[in-house]
Amino acid sequence: MNAIRREMLAPEFSARVLHDVPMAKHTSWHVGGPADWFFTPRDVMDLAAFLRQLPTEVPVLWVGLGSNLLVRDGGIRGAVISTHGALANLERISATRVQAGAGVPCARLARQCVKWGLGPAEFFAGIPGTVGGALAMNAGAWGGETWKHVVEVDVLDRRGMRHTRTPTEYQIGYRQVKGPPEEWFVGARLEFERRPGASDEVIRDLLEKRKQTQPIGAWSCGSVFTNPPGDHAARLIESAGLKGFRLGDAAVSDKHANFIVNHGAARAADIEALILHVQSTVEQRTHIRLQTEVRIVGESLPRTDA
Ligand SMILES: Cc1cc2nc3c(=O)[nH]c(=O)nc-3n(C[C@H](O)[C@H](O)[C@H](O)COP(=O)(O)OP(=O)(O)OC[C@H]3O[C@@H](n4cnc5c(N)ncnc54)[C@H](O)[C@@H]3O)c2cc1C
Repeated sequence: MNAIRREMLAPEFSARVLHDVPMAKHTSWHVGGPADWFFTPRDVMDLAAFLRQLPTEVPVLWVGLGSNLLVRDGGIRGAVISTHGALANLERISATRVQAGAGVPCARLARQCVKWGLGPAEFFAGIPGTVGGALAMNAGAWGGETWKHVVEVDVLDRRGMRHTRTPTEYQIGYRQVKGPPEEWFVGARLEFERRPGASDEVIRDLLEKRKQTQPIGAWSCGSVFTNPPGDHAARLIESAGLKGFRLGDAAVSDKHANFIVNHGAARAADIEALILHVQSTVEQRTHIRLQTEVRIVGESLPRTDA
């Protein structure tokens, strides 16, 4: 892509688009180089208008809370659309249905469903991302899964046109969702059951249990690899002797082997090299190639070492 310039944007957006925004500020691993453009919409209409005027040669990347994203150190060429802090509408639209904007944090959805006496939605409390990210990933925890609750989704396409789609239009699997290309989620209608006795205590207990087995609070992206059929990535990594293995400031967590933590000064390149090391070590020992759950995006920096 040729360099993108501010003049390529309609005047009403050129002043609102931020330039060279370090993605390390927008990812839970706290790594990642600059995004050429970074746009936070005011609402869905504003976002549709932004997409309509965006030159088609400018690539777009949608980002929620960046809790499943490894952005390389060279950053993102093109426009990042951030839904965090935007598209945050959350309302109950019938006895068992909820309308949630793509920018709603999953933890808020979990807590609000408890208040409304709806469930099972507690599992959303364990997902430190947005509803949009959960839809893109079919995020799940404790036996719950996002798409088990989807009635309809609202999406925008690359030209800013809005469509409503049903789950039958997607191929949905374990941490995988495939739908029409170049469309992104702006909201969803979700169905739950009536649970008049639902309480925050269940959420607290689940989070407490999680704290005992996962490095919660450390800079991470949750599980790096999906579990292969019939096995657990963490078990394979641990039995390959990799718990605690470190490259620079990136380390396989010694609490949960499927987490890679940034101890403070890791670069995306360290994390990516560690991911490759884990994949090849496990493959040599077991002939199983672990697949990444995290999404790796952006450009690498040229290597500076001799
Ligand atoms: C400590 C920790 C624990 C975790 N535990 C779990 C867990 O138990 N279960 C689980 O499933 N995940 C878990 N995760 C991973 C992560 O929270 C989920 O994958 C989450 O759904 C990502 O949401 P996000 O908003 O942060 O998405 P991002 O990381 O910002 O983006 C992830 C992907 O979704 C795309 N995307 C984001 N928003 C949209 C949108 N509106 N429309 C279309 N595409 C979009 C992005 O382009 C990217 O490809 C954990 C992460 C951490 C850090």
